[in-house]
Formats: sequence, structure tokens, C-alpha cells
Amino acid sequence: RPRVLSGIQPTADSFHLGNYLGAVRQWVTMQETYDAFYCVVDLHAITVPHDPAELRRRSRVAAAQLLAAGLDPERCTVFVQSHVPEHAELAWVLNCLTGMGEAGRMTQFKDKSAKQGESAASVGLFTYPILQAADILLYQADRVPVGADQKQHLELTRDLGQRFNHRFGETFTLPQPHILKEVEKITDLQDPTAKMSKSSSSPQGILDVLEAPGTLRKKVMRAVTDTGTEVLADDENKPGVTNLLRIQSALTGTPIPDLEARYAGQGYGTFKKDVAEVVVEAFTPIRERTEKLLANEAELDRLLAIGAERAGAVARVTMATVRDRIGFLPRA
Ligand code: ATP
Ligand code: MG
Repeated sequence: RPRVLSGIQPTADSFHLGNYLGAVRQWVTMQETYDAFYCVVDLHAITVPHDPAELRRRSRVAAAQLLAAGLDPERCTVFVQSHVPEHAELAWVLNCLTGMGEAGRMTQFKDKSAKQGESAASVGLFTYPILQAADILLYQADRVPVGADQKQHLELTRDLGQRFNHRFGETFTLPQPHILKEVEKITDLQDPTAKMSKSSSSPQGILDVLEAPGTLRKKVMRAVTDTGTEVLADDENKPGVTNLLRIQSALTGTPIPDLEARYAGQGYGTFKKDVAEVVVEAFTPIRERTEKLLANEAELDRLLAIGAERAGAVARVTMATVRDRIGFLPRA
């Protein structure tokens, strides 16, 4: 079975629609045909200022949401990144293979550090893509299901894997990104050219999976649409409407041209109401299951311990090879 790995950051109280459509929904499908590893990447979450108690709570919420969305611990491995220390260890080795200029070209650092200013941002935020490369290479992943924002990081991952293989001998599988065009970038409801994001979207711009149905409906109704009245997909001139069409199409399986025909001559009102219902319908079962899973913390932690055990077994094998290839003295 080919292998798949992906991760999500516990940086908010819930996942949003972009995370769900761009990533998590593919994870659920791929657990059927891949040897799948999915992690809550808490090491990534501390690259920005955080509160420890909140991180702990959000990590459990993130894991519960993944299970609630359909990941089955019998069919895939769900774990918390910090439970497998090899992630940090391999990241160090890869840090030493990455050029400063190469790391400096990563655009996500520029975006994420803009708020605090580059010099106030942590070195961890700067080297984040290298940790991500370690996450992927450690599991010898063939495919990495992610949103379009991760393309550049996947390229770096391949470059670093290839560089290591070239210098120290064939060690890593070079992964391919798995990006679905139709849902690769769900945009902010208030700023429909920007990606919907946990850390940078305003509350009005983001649809959280765990949000109350009433709030979800209001946000969709207030989503920025465009001048004109036609429900038509047009990225250039109608990014707001196009985003909503993509969302409805992805959640219902109805092709966009069929939706355009359905709403022809009706204006935006009915269309938005329908989008809101479709979102509420998709999120409600996930929210209810998440709440149930969180009510039994001991069971959730037990499942995560099983995941950590399975992930650790793979990570330890890769890391043993890496230590040997790089020339670290074996412990007698
Ligand atoms: P942050 O702002 O803290 O980086 P995020 O919203 O980008 O949070 P991540 O945990 O970094 O969420 O990403 C998890 C997965 O969701 C990644 O595969 C990412 O590419 C995908 N993803 C994030 N936002 C979107 C989006 N708006 N559309 C499609 N996929 C997305
Ligand atoms: Mg992100």
C-alpha cells in the first residue's frame, strides 16, 4: 500500500471549512486505499505565541474533530506530533541541509510574520517548512493531501529529501502533493481573494466546523458577494460568488454549471440561503460527534496513544537509518 501523511495545526478552537474541504475530507477517503498517517502538529503550533493550557485543549479538540470527520483509528493512524520525538530530531538534521536563502524564499513566513514584524517572529516560524519536511519524509510518504498554500513547502520537502539521498545514500521517498483543484483554496467570506485561515481570517470570514448553526447561517448570508445579481463562477470578477459556488458544489456533488443553471435569474438571496443550509448539514454531525468524543477524554487519549505507538514504530526505523547515514556514532 502506498503511504500518505498529512497534518493539521491545533491553532484554533475548531477546524474551518477550508481545512475540511481542502484537506480532511481527502484524508477520510484516502484511509481506504493508503497506509495513512495523520497528525495534530503541535510542534508547529508553538511557532507563534501560545498559551499552554489552550494548546493542550485544542490538541484534544483537533484529534476529536478528525475522528468525528470520519478518520477511523482501525483504518488509519491518528497521532499527536510531539508524541513522536523523531519529528524534531529529523527536523534538526534537515535544518543543517537547508540554505538560509532557500528557507528565506518560503512565502508563508513572510505572510505569517507580517503581523508581528519579521524580526519579532520566532526562528521556529522561520524553519517551520523544514519541520514539515521532516514530518513527511519520516514516514516515507508517497502522497500528501493538502491545500494549495502548501505547494511550496512540498517542493522544499522533495528538494531536501533528494539532497539527503544524493549526499548520504538513498533514504527517503520523494512525496507528491495531492491537491484537488476545485477545493485547493477556499477563500475568506469577507475577503474572497484571501485564503480562509485559522490565524489570519476575521471571525466573520471563517466558517468553523464546531460553530452554532445560527452563526454559520448568518456568516454565509453576510458573505461578501459581488456587484451584479447573476450566480456565475468567474474568479476574476466574482470571487465571492465563485467561492460560494465551489463550496456548494463540493458539499453536494453538484457540478457548478448545474448550480449556475438552477439559480439563473434568482439573485443572490436564495442561493446564499441554500449554501448556508448545505454547510450546516455537513457540519452538524461532525460537531455532535466531536462533542461526544470530548466527553470521554480518557478514551480519546487512549486512541492517541495507540496512534503514537504505530507512528513511532515507523519513525524510529527511518531515524535509525538517518543517524547511521549522517555519521552519528551508534550508542554502544
Ligand atoms: P493557520 O492559519 O494557523 O496556518 P490554516 O487555516 O492554514 O491555519 P493549517 O492547520 O495550517 O490551517 O492547515 C491544515 C490543512 O488545511 C493544510 O493541508 C492546508 O493546506 C489546508 N487548508 C488550510 N486553509 C485552506 C483553505 N482555505 N482552502 C483549502 N485548504 C486549506
Ligand atoms: Mg496554515
